[in-house]
Amino acid sequence: MNRQQNLNYKQEQYRALVHTIVTNEHVYPAIVVFLSTFMLLGAIPFYHIGVVFLLALITGAIAYVHPEFGLILGILLGLPSAAYQSSGLAGLYILYISVVLVELSTSWLEIGAINIIVFSAFAFPQFPILGIFSILAIVLSNYHFGSGKTIGLVVFSVLMIMTLSALWGVQNNTGFHVNLGQYSTAESISISKPRLDLGDLGNGLSTATSDLFNPDLLAGAYDTIFPFLSTLIQVLFYDSGLVQLIGWIAGLFTMAYLSGVLQTETKYQQTISSFAIFIPMIFYFLASILYNFDGSIITYLGMILSIIIMFIFDLFNITITQEFVINREKSVKMFGKFGLQDMKLAAGVKSLDDVGNYENVKKELMNAIVMPLKNKTIAYAYGLKPPTGILLFGPPGTGKSLLMSALAAQLKYKIYYVKSSELMSSWYGESEKNVNEIFSIARKNAPCILFFDEIDAIGKSRSAAGTDTTTPKILTTLLQDMDGLKSKEAEKKPVIIVGATNVPDQLDRALMRPGRFDKIIYMPVPDKEGRKKIFQVHMKGLIIGRDVDLDLLAKKTERFTGADIKNVVQEAKELAAKEAEEQNKIVPISMRHFMEVIKRVKPSVNLADLEKYQKFKIDYERSVYGNKKDEDKEKEKKIITWDDVIGLKDVKKAI
Ligand code: ATP
Repeated sequence: MNRQQNLNYKQEQYRALVHTIVTNEHVYPAIVVFLSTFMLLGAIPFYHIGVVFLLALITGAIAYVHPEFGLILGILLGLPSAAYQSSGLAGLYILYISVVLVELSTSWLEIGAINIIVFSAFAFPQFPILGIFSILAIVLSNYHFGSGKTIGLVVFSVLMIMTLSALWGVQNNTGFHVNLGQYSTAESISISKPRLDLGDLGNGLSTATSDLFNPDLLAGAYDTIFPFLSTLIQVLFYDSGLVQLIGWIAGLFTMAYLSGVLQTETKYQQTISSFAIFIPMIFYFLASILYNFDGSIITYLGMILSIIIMFIFDLFNITITQEFVINREKSVKMFGKFGLQDMKLAAGVKSLDDVGNYENVKKELMNAIVMPLKNKTIAYAYGLKPPTGILLFGPPGTGKSLLMSALAAQLKYKIYYVKSSELMSSWYGESEKNVNEIFSIARKNAPCILFFDEIDAIGKSRSAAGTDTTTPKILTTLLQDMDGLKSKEAEKKPVIIVGATNVPDQLDRALMRPGRFDKIIYMPVPDKEGRKKIFQVHMKGLIIGRDVDLDLLAKKTERFTGADIKNVVQEAKELAAKEAEEQNKIVPISMRHFMEVIKRVKPSVNLADLEKYQKFKIDYERSVYGNKKDEDKEKEKKIITWDDVIGLKDVKKAI
């Protein structure tokens, strides 16, 4: 192994380590809970700063295993702090804990986010820089929870910060300025006492605990509710609260919306959308002029920093934006009981490049579906209409479902996955009702694509049904529903049906009539060049040895489908990983590993099946690119010759 290679494998080792840390789902709850406890105990002075740090570390460590438990422990630790400061605050704090306990199991992350946003604004006022965490938590929450939830969360947090500032008579770290002169501070919830020294902690704890059992505690809290609400209204309408809030709402909404829209278009979608932070920035600047205060440098810094952080995320391919997923989940829910999946959500594929081979099929699908839907002017001028249906047929594992997932990832149109067998029900008339219902929901969600996987389950030929009475009925319903997609209304907002099957000969002929499946496209087992491309797709991102010869691999895997090839790569990967574990170093996947696997794996499609598909192709294929040129047909004819049959000289002679 030369030096350069050694260096590459070292890099791979570090890359694997960083990836493991970033994708570790325990790390982010630990960070959120650490910050939540640290800011909370930092905001209500009681514990010594060193103790605050230690307690935050402990709750963070607990959250690594059990986020809810770590979070509530951090919040409970704040109770003596509130009791130490004032009885009204302790009362309010108890109310807050009650709300948290109700919401904890479903919304621990939201509670953690609110804690960071609100308490960073008051934590350790000697370090106002901590206010940056408030701004960053707002922006990151917006990407993670989506605009819908975050707007509510931010309205609550911003108002809370400003109201507490007014009631406590202090400015906040976050720079959400309040004109302190116009408010009277509330003594009953004040935070005027200093932090305790380490030595005094024991005494302080026992006094605070006994204060907690004061029967006037809740009455004190009750008395603060009115001044709290009246201050909140003042902050909103008689101070800069409303202007600042409008800025944040408009900015966050634009940010989340942009990140959702740009999802499929660009790698830097998060960075681009984060520029919407300039909206609250402009409103903040305006508020500072209108209400005559100096805008805080921390606020501006936090806003700029959020753009830089999103850029770093994009640079390392870390996607935190969930807006797109949240929106699509909402529309998937509309399909209710069918357990429909939005293919974009289900697939790990990002674009058509993740499907090796089948360039013609991709081109055909893009032209048939995308052109009429996307370029409406040209479609109208030339009377182009999207097809009602497209049938993909071919051996199992050639990537029919994968292709649709890739299309879903690349297109903005909704593509819904229907596992046809799930529409079948043993209740009388229920299966037809299910098919009807799917079509009617799809029409409501149009334009969209309904992908019926294993369409043979509902489109079986009437003659093959035998004594089964459901099959003909469900088929009739399917035909009627497909015909119903051709109305004038449906032309404006089309629903395109894509069916996939690996037993095309079992489908009813009526389905094959033009106007139903207008395009019938064959996805055969890949040829040598195709296999090479599929190997390349599955080797992407793996540590592959220099000796790996794609040509040879493709040659040795005749009749292998995409799924078979995926399997080969997977098993070769496992062999190399096992060796790496034994030798405790990165072992690249080499030709030796691949050949070892190929030797014992058989292709999953047999010759008899291939013949069946070929026959169906000749009878039915309707595709622009699928009809091969004569020279290709010549080549195809030449594929099998006498020379391919080894031995059997006598039999050949006799024939
Ligand atoms: P079935 O008819 O059994 O549903 P299918 O034709 O829909 O099979 P898929 O389920 O899409 O096949 O393929 C299974 C897996 O095989 C895919 O998830 C993918 O990993 C791999 N695969 C298949 N074809 C390809 C391809 N052309 N390029 C890359 N990977 C492929």
